Amino acid sequence: MTKVLFVVSECAPLVKTGGLADVAGALPAALAQYDVNVRVLLPGYRTVMAQVQKSKPVATYNNLFGNSADVIACQIAGVDFLILDAPHLYDRDGSIYGDATGADWLDNPERFAALCKVGAGIAAGDLPDWQPDIVHGHDWHAGLTPEYLRSAGLETPFVFTIHNIAFHGNASAQKLADLSLDADRFTSDHFEFWGQISALKAGLMGATKINTVSQTYADELMTPEFGLGMDGILQARQSDMSGIVNGIDLDAWNPQTDPNITKFKSPAGKSKNKTALQKTFGLGKADGPLCVLVSRLTEQKGIDLLLDALPALLDNGGQLALLGSGDPALEVALLKAAAKHQNLSVKIGYNEKLSHQMMAGGDAILVPSRFEPCGLTQLYGLRYGTVPLVALTGGLADTVINASPAAMARKVATGIQFFPINAHAFANAFNRLLTLYSDKDVWRSIQRNAMKQPVGWEAAAQTYKDLYESVL
Ligand code: ADP
Repeated sequence: MTKVLFVVSECAPLVKTGGLADVAGALPAALAQYDVNVRVLLPGYRTVMAQVQKSKPVATYNNLFGNSADVIACQIAGVDFLILDAPHLYDRDGSIYGDATGADWLDNPERFAALCKVGAGIAAGDLPDWQPDIVHGHDWHAGLTPEYLRSAGLETPFVFTIHNIAFHGNASAQKLADLSLDADRFTSDHFEFWGQISALKAGLMGATKINTVSQTYADELMTPEFGLGMDGILQARQSDMSGIVNGIDLDAWNPQTDPNITKFKSPAGKSKNKTALQKTFGLGKADGPLCVLVSRLTEQKGIDLLLDALPALLDNGGQLALLGSGDPALEVALLKAAAKHQNLSVKIGYNEKLSHQMMAGGDAILVPSRFEPCGLTQLYGLRYGTVPLVALTGGLADTVINASPAAMARKVATGIQFFPINAHAFANAFNRLLTLYSDKDVWRSIQRNAMKQPVGWEAAAQTYKDLYESVL
């Protein structure tokens, strides 16, 4: 049995802002099948503590960046959690990363350094009954862990997964002492990045092995366009770098058992869900496909491209139901567009149940991201026979088979991809979508292919197991 400690800033079902939480929540169960025992170290944010029964701490720290903190062990939804209960860092209003105005918490460096420090403590044997063989950190929040492992004199292997390289977790160099970092290592060989402390760089430099969540994103990260300043480091570490495509939780996302929808087995069973979804979004009947989009609304997600490309869909009988929240300017632009067009309906907010209903009722799911490390909503779409229309990048390139003439002839197409990633190519993709949708037999065959594609964790879990074995 290999024991692995996850160090992660969010984990479903306790706290989620994006795909990272889905991965952290689902991968432990998948790894258990391969004799890997995972415990998940997670900050005890207010929303997390509200779901956790207070019990006798399994570890206590008298002074963790300013005050005392406890580690509480609990099992929730089959995941073994170690919750870092540190009210001075995590018990506050606002979101988990920032205040109500959307600004990052000023003490984010301390908040996530604390998580890393406790991760290193647990690796050193701070828990009475469990000590990991490997620490597996996710994104910049876990990046300082190898620094603390090192200063504790530990050689525990550290696996680092990049879920999104856009976030670097930078802090002022003046925080070196506050964060208990070794000032001698504030150099470009370690964690100094353009004069600042970079938690992400610390993780990349200190990791035994690095992986990201698709092979295409792994390749893209070696280029200046996608590497966002880390491409040189990743090139240097190329031999330790791999790509492992995420899976999805096949129980939570199962059209045959999903309690949020009218259950279905085959594409024909989607029609009741489509009618219900049109009603929920105040859309009428239409001849063309009902597209759906569920996303954070940010530049990464290509929402501005969508706004420019949309007439190609909406003016030709297609519809779009969109759910998301994020950048206020994008929210306003979407609502304005919806007010002008009867075939477009937009809901601003975060709604898990509705996202299931959209997968069930949609004909096609849109993911026009400028970059997308893996992407999950196209995987939900595949499972629900909701054909993905995606940009050709990252995990979207690796998980969707474009309906090219060759793929159609071989009956393997599962979706539509567009490239280059601009509004013109996106509009052309809408034209292809309308054409494919208008031939019911063709459309059904793409939907059936999509529903057959394996999207669970099986393959990824096996590959993570191999990765763990390679570092032991
Ligand atoms: P990212 O992690 O970059 O946000 P992913 O596609 O990897 O993108 O994961 C996003 C996750 O968050 C998916 O599970 C998606 O369904 C969910 N999600 C995003 N926005 C919303 C929303 N407004 N309502 C419900 N779920 C959402």
